[in-house]
Amino acid sequence: MPRLSEVIAALESLWPAERAETWDAVGTVVGDPDQEVGRVLFAVDPVQEIVDEALKLDAHLLVTHHPLYLRGTTTVAASHFKGRVVHTLIKNDIALHVAHTNADTADPGVSDALAGALGLRVVRPLVPDATDPEGRRGLGRICELDHPMTVREFAARAAERLPATAQGIRVAGDAEALVRTVAVSGGSGDSLFDAVRAAGVDAFLTADLRHHPVSEFIADRAHSPLALLDAAHWATEWPWCEQAAAQLDEISDRHGWDLRVHVSRTVTDPWTSHSPSLSLSLPLSPGAPN
Ligand SMILES: [Zn+2]
Repeated sequence: MPRLSEVIAALESLWPAERAETWDAVGTVVGDPDQEVGRVLFAVDPVQEIVDEALKLDAHLLVTHHPLYLRGTTTVAASHFKGRVVHTLIKNDIALHVAHTNADTADPGVSDALAGALGLRVVRPLVPDATDPEGRRGLGRICELDHPMTVREFAARAAERLPATAQGIRVAGDAEALVRTVAVSGGSGDSLFDAVRAAGVDAFLTADLRHHPVSEFIADRAHSPLALLDAAHWATEWPWCEQAAAQLDEISDRHGWDLRVHVSRTVTDPWTSHSPSLSLSLPLSPGAPN
């Protein structure tokens, strides 16, 4: 069995910490470098139910996409939900390692996994990383569909192929417009609207889209006759877990390690139910004339 330091070195070779955004908090959060690692669990969120899953699985390392303490902390007391996560990890000799924005921009990265799940062919990054001479790393991906389809059909494909969530897929724009090229970005993507406009794609699929940015983006049809598709944040990033697990598996085989790599199927999307409106017209108030 490899030691934690060896497995971390492998993870760092895939997603070097120095490629994370300056505001990010990536790397090893909990763990003894000399501890042996026999099982690894990949997940999106370092929440208690995922840590409990790692414990049940007898995993010695949990790798998550989201940081546990993005904005720092002054306490790991178990009376706080994040402190409880730290306590459970340490008491059970489970390490925690985070690959966040350094995994977003990697080659392959979070958006490659998202494109793969959607059956898209990746053409290039949406916002290329200037430090990559090959132009393969960067934020988001510009992709081509295998055949043209309507926005409605593409949304249905995304709903079918991404992990099921309460939200499903929301669409802004003309649902009957034809889509040939798509930009995708796992996680919150509304900071990328300018790059999406410049890319000249037919649609943009991302997560966490809000009223005003979407309303203004769609209203500016002279510059952006394209549709927006909003999926659950968790669902757009979960495909990375499978991609990342396969990458670590491959490294493990190369080193001849006795390492088992698992992917959590626990849904940690915080939205748990959704009641669709019965119609898109305003309901009549009682007593209103018909
Ligand atoms: Zn995220």
